[in-house]
Amino acid sequence: MTLHLYNTASRQKEKFVPRDPKNVGMYVCGPTVYDFAHIGNARPVIIFDILARLLRIEYGDANVNYVRNITDVEDKIIDAAQKNGESIEALTTRTADAFHTDMAALGALPPNREPRATEHIEGMVEMIGILIDKDHAYEAEGHVLFDVQSMPNYGKLSGRNRDDMIAGARVEIAPYKKDPADFVLWKPSTPDIVGWDSPWGRGRPGWHIECSVMSKAELGDTFDIHGGGRDLIFPHHENEVAQSCCAHGEGTFAQYWVHNGFLTVEGDKMSKSLGNFRTVRELLAEAPGEALRLNMLSAHYRQPLDWTSDGVKQAKTNLDRLYTALQHLSDVEADESTVATSVLAALEDDINTPQALTEIYAIASAANKATDADERARLKGELLSGGAMMGILLQEPADWFQSGSDGDISEEDINMLIAERIQAKAEKNYARSDEIRDSLKEQGIVLEDAAGGTTWKRV
Ligand code: AMP
Ligand code: ZN
Repeated sequence: MTLHLYNTASRQKEKFVPRDPKNVGMYVCGPTVYDFAHIGNARPVIIFDILARLLRIEYGDANVNYVRNITDVEDKIIDAAQKNGESIEALTTRTADAFHTDMAALGALPPNREPRATEHIEGMVEMIGILIDKDHAYEAEGHVLFDVQSMPNYGKLSGRNRDDMIAGARVEIAPYKKDPADFVLWKPSTPDIVGWDSPWGRGRPGWHIECSVMSKAELGDTFDIHGGGRDLIFPHHENEVAQSCCAHGEGTFAQYWVHNGFLTVEGDKMSKSLGNFRTVRELLAEAPGEALRLNMLSAHYRQPLDWTSDGVKQAKTNLDRLYTALQHLSDVEADESTVATSVLAALEDDINTPQALTEIYAIASAANKATDADERARLKGELLSGGAMMGILLQEPADWFQSGSDGDISEEDINMLIAERIQAKAEKNYARSDEIRDSLKEQGIVLEDAAGGTTWKRV
């Protein structure tokens, strides 16, 4: 096995060599839970789900620790809770539950560990104390700030120099900062705002320190892979590097940095602030989760992916093709234990999901042509194991063709109309029977009359 990953830190594709093959660690920045996730937020979840599956195949389930946090204290959460008239706990519990439901519907497996920021406040206070002791941080007006000038390598991960950073809109200018690029580790909370006691007064952590502390608690000072969307490279990941390396020693922290590109809408990044987003919830009402997932995997993770309804439709058509091939293989038993080398090789090449899908389509085409029983059984195994690796083809073909999305006519209603049509035919009321067929067709349901009765599928 030779997994290669593009490492943002070195700006090149590198062979992945874990520090310890019996203990492979990956940390991915998870959601800030204050609202429903949009489909852009699902991109890292799906991509790192594929990477986690790949690592588990390569190193064994028990030897991979995939950690994805939940940010449950942050100013956006405080604002949203105030706006909704809801407690922070109620809001974060509700939105974290919704996040889990939505990501499961997209076929993402849960991570091994899912720490929450509020469970790690003590560790954050401790790390901030160490940074102050080592002269990498200072207290000012109830805030504790990281002193970027104390770290010669600051800016290395993102490749930014100090002027770029200050010019970038994302550093907050404040009078109590020694340098405009200094960032907050701890900030004061007024009595009406959530806070914890600390040596610097009652307050709450900054976002960046949360991930440095949770990754350390779960994976140690140094671990293999750190992931997230590319918008996190600066300032979030740059600041995580600064905090962790200054607290633990240069060269510690993540060895491989993996970042996904943006999911866009007509060229613009999908984001809450631009208002151009579609929630995963809304999209699941329009299309099956597997189709959304396949559409997500149709582009290489580092490339931008423009999200369109045509793309989702195409993904659904591709899945119909794959499920049709599987349906034709229903008479043979498959061995699904090993993933086809062609599919695995594509994924090992920096998670090349479009290439992996091309290989899966090729397997389906070969299966459609094959006549030999052994050959068909082998190809069925490859199709199912390749599909499972990608998190698709998990349903029985008959279920796939009958499954709709939330807005579609229900199976119960379809069966009632079919029964009514049989009755109408028996009474020679052909006008009514045709009417039922046509009305179902308009709703995407095709009836097939055969000797054994009427079957149906969604198209
Ligand atoms: P946020 O809740 O904004 O911190 O985002 C959670 C995760 O989703 C982070 O890893 C972001 O990088 C990622 N993300 C947010 N928007 C997009 C997008 N439009 N395309 C790809 N990834 C995104
Ligand atoms: Zn993070």
